[in-house]
Amino acid sequence: VSPMNALWFDLGNISLRQLQQPQPAKGEVLLRTRLAGICGTDLALLEGYSQFKGVPGHEFVADVVEGPAHWLGRRVVAGINLGCGDCDFCVQGRVEHCRERQVVGIRQAQGAFAEYLCLPEANLLAVPADLSDEHAAMAEPVAAALQILEQLVVPETARVLIIGAGRMAQLIARVLLTQTSTVDVLARTDQRWRYFADLPVGQLTGELQGLQHYDIVVECSGNPAGLTTAMAAVKPLGVIVLKSTYGAQTKIDASYLVVNEVTLLGSRCGPMQIALDWLVRNPLPVEILASQTFTLQDGVRALDIAKGAGAGKCFLAPGGAY
Ligand SMILES: [Zn+2]
Ligand SMILES: [Zn+2]
Repeated sequence: VSPMNALWFDLGNISLRQLQQPQPAKGEVLLRTRLAGICGTDLALLEGYSQFKGVPGHEFVADVVEGPAHWLGRRVVAGINLGCGDCDFCVQGRVEHCRERQVVGIRQAQGAFAEYLCLPEANLLAVPADLSDEHAAMAEPVAAALQILEQLVVPETARVLIIGAGRMAQLIARVLLTQTSTVDVLARTDQRWRYFADLPVGQLTGELQGLQHYDIVVECSGNPAGLTTAMAAVKPLGVIVLKSTYGAQTKIDASYLVVNEVTLLGSRCGPMQIALDWLVRNPLPVEILASQTFTLQDGVRALDIAKGAGAGKCFLAPGGAY
């Protein structure tokens, strides 16, 4: 077995390690990572979310280098939830809620901030030839944004507020603008508006304007204070979609939800195939992605840059081909 380079997270510490190249088990393939995106969840893992120890990286595009002939050499993305196959959720095909689930790069399973990783063949999706690596690596977060539409009917007349103006917020705005024309985005600072330059969203900076004003509020700021803001912004009978995974517990006035009959809707992973199709139809403007690509050796710096308020999408290219 040959060694490979990988970024290793250990409860808040990051290091570049030489690990043994993983060996595919039965039903698995060996993937060589082409490109892996850094996202808010990776930053939350560093702050203690999920008690993660291992190789992170759950947004990626890779080549199949070992596996069945019909997958060999293909460029793929993959569903990141690994189910047991036996529990009530797995039997219903809701593997993302498997009672024993592992999640690639987030919970127990090794991720793509490494030269190689192994995944079940069943999780693979072939990438359309006309989708760039950068776009393909966005399939996972785009799926997470599209999940809102799987969970919730967004009427044409809905007034929507997105709290947070980060990378996830950009994708959610793009997805929700296909349903309604009234989407406002609330940002802490105006550093990020250039990433919304091509989108007809209302740009709100700093303090919330308009209490109980919105039918749907999507909280994706990554900051527990965002949930308090969401509660003030949502109309009675409205819905708060919670996309942030906070690194710690958060306090809310739960009675307010009861009295105003507000629905609090948790929302996580979404449909990968629909995301690939969506990306083909809705290419993300390159200047909006404002992406930067780093080697694994530069991974610590890449995570630091990704943390910055004005940062575009940061990618790691473990093969160093970029
Ligand atoms: Zn992510
Ligand atoms: Zn299961």
